[in-house]
Amino acid sequence: MEPNGILIYAQKDENNRIEPVVKELLTKARFLKEKLWNQRITVCVIGERINYENIINELGSYGADEVIIVSDDRLKDYNKIYYSEIFTQIAKQYPPRIILVGATVQGKDIAAYTSTKLETGLTADCTDLDIDDKSCLLVSTRPTFGGKLTADILCKTFPQMATVQQNIFKSEKTEHKATAVFNWIDIDKIENKIEVINKTTKNHSSNDISNADIIVAGGLGACRDNGFALIYELAAKLNAMVAGSREAYERGYITKSQQTGQTGKIVAPKLYIAVGISGADQHLAGIKNSGKIIAINNDKNAPIFKYADIGIIGDLFKILPEFIAEVDKDKEVKNEQ
Ligand SMILES: Cc1cc2nc3c(=O)[nH]c(=O)nc-3n(C[C@H](O)[C@H](O)[C@H](O)COP(=O)(O)OP(=O)(O)OC[C@H]3O[C@@H](n4cnc5c(N)ncnc54)[C@H](O)[C@@H]3O)c2cc1C
Repeated sequence: MEPNGILIYAQKDENNRIEPVVKELLTKARFLKEKLWNQRITVCVIGERINYENIINELGSYGADEVIIVSDDRLKDYNKIYYSEIFTQIAKQYPPRIILVGATVQGKDIAAYTSTKLETGLTADCTDLDIDDKSCLLVSTRPTFGGKLTADILCKTFPQMATVQQNIFKSEKTEHKATAVFNWIDIDKIENKIEVINKTTKNHSSNDISNADIIVAGGLGACRDNGFALIYELAAKLNAMVAGSREAYERGYITKSQQTGQTGKIVAPKLYIAVGISGADQHLAGIKNSGKIIAINNDKNAPIFKYADIGIIGDLFKILPEFIAEVDKDKEVKNEQ
């Protein structure tokens, strides 16, 4: 069968809600579809007790033409073998021209397994997707050579696979309806080699800076004299999440999942407060979709000021306590009103 259409993996959160990256991929897929003579967009949802109607309506409203749902009690929690094998089998039956997966921990796991099983190429962590006018192949754009160059990669085997991080593309609804496609994957035939011995649950989305409205981020400038204590204090007052540069991560002030930038998370908060961060290209790559950026830096020539909506030139150890005091005052005034 000729490869046809775009297949998207729909990751859900622990409350069975579709992850935002899936809606972003669907929005981009609508653009790719137009360049591919309107080939169909199919979304694959794997899980347990899925509300068929809601999910199909929701995915349809972002552009899905068809939704394949594989639902089974054994699929309640993410299991690499079950999920990856089901997704691979669907891709084999289909077979699609393009496969798009969110570059989440789970998505990267599934995409790597599927591309190996399908013996095809996978371009990871893409920053843009397009269709080449001449060859009609997927053009997957991603940074290379330490972020100094951007490469357009054309995979000549099918399906052409790409992963994309959250917040790279915008998600937009459309007037569209999807239909359900029934697909019988025999889960009994999948040899599950994973036995869960102990399970701890963690609310990933509430800890994930990708979904934060306000972020206070610290850089090397804050990595001394309790600079990060001030950052955590301001974040708590603003109901914000804490992030930081790679320098802050390497010095142990934040975890890897709090690092923003090209090799960290791509974020799109309404407000990003960059404290003691110079504004290297690799850092900016992760924050450029922020609504507003406030930069605090004692070097008036720091590159971050070119991108900031509000720039405060000065010592963070003086400015942050004043900032925190102002937030306290503001809260007091609001409480009195
Ligand atoms: C392949 C590759 C991938 C990378 N990926 C990432 C990534 O994902 N994310 C990332 O962040 N970086 C990444 N980097 C590293 C990046 O190039 C920079 O080195 C890094 O972002 C710099 O971090 P910084 O701004 O905290 O430190 P610096 O560049 O050292 O800046 C510190 C800033 O703090 C200011 N400062 C110092 N003291 C004070 C004070 N008292 N008050 C106010 N301001 C003060 C200074 O003026 C300076 O501007 C990557 C690099 C490579 C090569």
